[in-house]
Amino acid sequence: TPKLIVKGVTRTYREGKRQLEALAPLDLTVAQGEFVSLIGPSGCGKSTLFNIVAGVDEPTSGTLAIDGDWHGERAGQAGYMPQQPLLLPWRTVEENVLLGLDVRRLPRREAQQQAHDVLKRFGLQEFADSYPASLSGGMRQRIALLRTVLFNSSFLLLDEPFGALDALTRITLQMWLLDLLQTYHSSVLFITHDVREAILLSDRIYVLSARPASILRVVNIDLPRP
Ligand code: ADP
Ligand code: ADP
Repeated sequence: TPKLIVKGVTRTYREGKRQLEALAPLDLTVAQGEFVSLIGPSGCGKSTLFNIVAGVDEPTSGTLAIDGDWHGERAGQAGYMPQQPLLLPWRTVEENVLLGLDVRRLPRREAQQQAHDVLKRFGLQEFADSYPASLSGGMRQRIALLRTVLFNSSFLLLDEPFGALDALTRITLQMWLLDLLQTYHSSVLFITHDVREAILLSDRIYVLSARPASILRVVNIDLPRP
């Protein structure tokens, strides 16, 4: 079974008396372990689709399934990283990473051990006791990605995670993300404006039209991962 099936999903927003159509009937899939990118003009409806897949919003019509479950509660079935992920400023890096585990209601000891292990595995243990404000943008994104993986490593929804980073940091984080994904065998739905980033990271790319988003093209990338 595919990780995600989206079938005929639409979303209409009401703006006073007007109806704003954000998603044309949209069909897409993400296979198990697949890295799928969405590219399309800003305002076309990408974040709308993400919110629906994350379970924080409902489609106006159409249905979707995660792991073949068409009627399940979607919230929590994916690790969702919005465009501006919120790291709590008064919590340390380790405590921020722990938030991902709190949601899963693990015993405290076990959660702390896992947070410690994951920071170490991905080269961030020296920052465990730092506060987010003292970190570079690239480090903050890594922390947010680790937190997201701990929410749910099997399926990640990432909305422009590298959009605000300089070119060099961006390349470093792209490689770091691939390492993270390989470790957890994650399936990924990824929003980016950067076509080169999509080609570098993806197995498949959906090219979306301007709003209401519909699929213009599906591109299969048949390149070995860097
Ligand atoms: P993208 O992520 O591709 O930039 P969005 O999904 O954020 O696009 O937005 C698609 C369209 O829906 C835009 O025109 C946006 O203004 C509108 N929109 C998004 N969220 C809401 C909302 N909560 N209420 C009304 N309109 C919205
Ligand atoms: P709440 O306290 O709002 O009832 P939870 O305890 O489930 O919700 O989650 C606490 C916070 O963790 C939420 O505000 C949400 O931002 C974040 N969160 C929960 N589940 C996920 C997820 N699957 N992916 C990313 N963030 C999540």
